[in-house]
Amino acid sequence: MYMGFTIAQLLLLSLISDSMKTEFDAILAKKIFSKDDIVALLSTTDENDVGKLFEKSCSVKKEYVGSEVYLRGLLEFSNVCRKNCFYCGIRSDNKQIHRYSIPDEEIKEIVLHAWKNNYGSMVFQSGERNDAVFIEHVIDILKYSKKITNNEIGITLSCGEQSEKTYQKLFDSGAHRYLLRIETSNEALYYKIHPENETHSFKARIEALRNLKKTGFQTGTGIMIGLPFQTIEDLADDLLFFKKNDIDMVGMGPYIEHKETPMYKYRKLLMPKTERFNLTLRMIAVLRIMMKDINIAASTALQAIDNEGRVKGLKAGANVIMPNLTPSAYIEDYFLYDNKPCLHENIGKYFKLLESSIHDAGDTIAYKKWGDSKHFFTRTSAR
Ligand code: SAM
Ligand code: SF4
Repeated sequence: MYMGFTIAQLLLLSLISDSMKTEFDAILAKKIFSKDDIVALLSTTDENDVGKLFEKSCSVKKEYVGSEVYLRGLLEFSNVCRKNCFYCGIRSDNKQIHRYSIPDEEIKEIVLHAWKNNYGSMVFQSGERNDAVFIEHVIDILKYSKKITNNEIGITLSCGEQSEKTYQKLFDSGAHRYLLRIETSNEALYYKIHPENETHSFKARIEALRNLKKTGFQTGTGIMIGLPFQTIEDLADDLLFFKKNDIDMVGMGPYIEHKETPMYKYRKLLMPKTERFNLTLRMIAVLRIMMKDINIAASTALQAIDNEGRVKGLKAGANVIMPNLTPSAYIEDYFLYDNKPCLHENIGKYFKLLESSIHDAGDTIAYKKWGDSKHFFTRTSAR
């Protein structure tokens, strides 16, 4: 007898509970997901199943990367770009925006401000340029950021595709993480969202990711979710692409249309924004289960759809958040998509709000830590 049940009753109860286990539970319990499994996990909209998915991704997150959220101050230091990606508001053909490059003195102030406010890391992001003046400027930013913070600030760069030699110079100057989204791992879809020419080449993008890893960067990539013509199978392939390429960090966000871009004409083909949002959360959760010890960012684009977007991203399995420290004089000119949140987020009250919602999500902020990818150290020490 156990708690008043006979053995026969206990057997019956276990039979009933087994029969209630669904196909979804069986997939979720697998050690390795096939493409079909991933499609099934991403396709579910049943509240109960989604709850089980998040429960699992959260427990994997707690076990493998803990409940600390790594903080990076995001500085969008220039919106000058040589490229013409069909989805992006700062593409070079958009003549409606004012182009800027933040002067060094202002960049220094922001870095110092972040460091004094216990941020462990910065992300320096910009449009893509590969001329010598730009590269030398980025090298200066890296060197003075290290110098004025006693080498304490960690640095992620996100300045697009560069040559292997340039990546090496950037690494040697103090950057140690690099984000370069593949945007989609489906080559045919890639050319639906980019012009097909020398400056926009899928093969060059793959090569650049390879070079980042070769240089020694903690390598981050990612995709947009809910693009026109994108299928759930494409998204499953994207997750398998991250796994196959043994990526250290991933940033995925919903695609959001922008009026001044060529892709705006496809807006009627898009799923509603809330669906793109929910699908992004499921992508984060499935990825966390598949790649347990990587860093996953809760992207700004999540916040553009839902005021609690990034915190919901953390609850689904993300562990990195990048409050935007770009000064308000520039932030509106880094307008990648409609409704991009335009807050300089270190203003006391916004930061306090963010901090308390992170705590409500059951996480704590890792102040003063670089917040490197655990996966990077596992894969490099195994070599
Ligand atoms: N220029 C660099 C690059 O492309 O890698 C870094 C800056 S770029 C603005 C950063 C990311 O913004 C891109 O990788 C893309 O995924 C995202 N992005 C651009 N336009 C977007 C849109 N309309 N909706 C959602 N994300 C967008
Ligand atoms: Fe330029 Fe990056 Fe925007 Fe493409 S996504 S247009 S490279 S800023």
